Amino acid sequence: MNDKKKLIAANWKMNGDLAANEALLHAILAGIGDAACDLALAVPAPYLAQVQALTAGTVLALAAQDVSQHEAGAYTGEVSAAMLRDFGVRYTLVGHSERRQYHGETDQVVAQKAQRALAAGLTPIVCVGETLQEREAGQTEAVVRRQLAAVIQRNGHCISEVALAYEPVWAIGTGHTASPAQAQAVHAVLRAQLRAASAQAGRIRLLYGGSLNAANAAPLLAQPDIDGGLVGGASLKAPDFLAIIAAAHGAAVIASGVGKE
Ligand code: PEP
Repeated sequence: MNDKKKLIAANWKMNGDLAANEALLHAILAGIGDAACDLALAVPAPYLAQVQALTAGTVLALAAQDVSQHEAGAYTGEVSAAMLRDFGVRYTLVGHSERRQYHGETDQVVAQKAQRALAAGLTPIVCVGETLQEREAGQTEAVVRRQLAAVIQRNGHCISEVALAYEPVWAIGTGHTASPAQAQAVHAVLRAQLRAASAQAGRIRLLYGGSLNAANAAPLLAQPDIDGGLVGGASLKAPDFLAIIAAAHGAAVIASGVGKE
């Protein structure tokens, strides 16, 4: 049975402004009720202070979209894990495919970033996933295993402190979603790899991300190895994000057996 609390994380990407952020947060907070899952918002770095202030004392945790692999020093433009912690950040995305693709982040850099986050007491949400070309070439398993292996190799002793997001690149922002069976199959591969690395692997949350929306969230979140979602586009619309949270709540209720005779 999957008895972990689900984690739903929003990735705002490079969207928003002061007024729009405030309106979105008010709408989310007004509709959220008693969230049965953990919730995080990965917001652009300049808005961390604003979102920290507007979410203080609420169920919404603060997340960053990236973190430097360096601790401090002459790295112009970078944001360190300690700086994120100063703003109450609890989670940070690491190795999002847009960082890998547009900023040349290698598996090793991603592993270093996860290490920096962990050292500062942040939970890295490590993103892995294959491109369409790799899937069509039958390389999905090899690619995600390679990406995860680098993170395990560098962080083996505390690997159970990370969260992992399986985000097939072909599903991000495209409207194409992995089917529940496709996503579960990859999550099972990742879980097995984590189990081989850590006796605590069962507590690691594996999120699915890739065009998750109000209509497709429930069956994905009901899969045994899917412990939550990483939500891009749909997290910018309060009703859609709230519907995904409600789907996670429903999946948690089903997993706990509440309501069964
Ligand atoms: C993402 O950016 O992590 C993501 C999953 O985006 P979208 O939901 O828009 O596909």
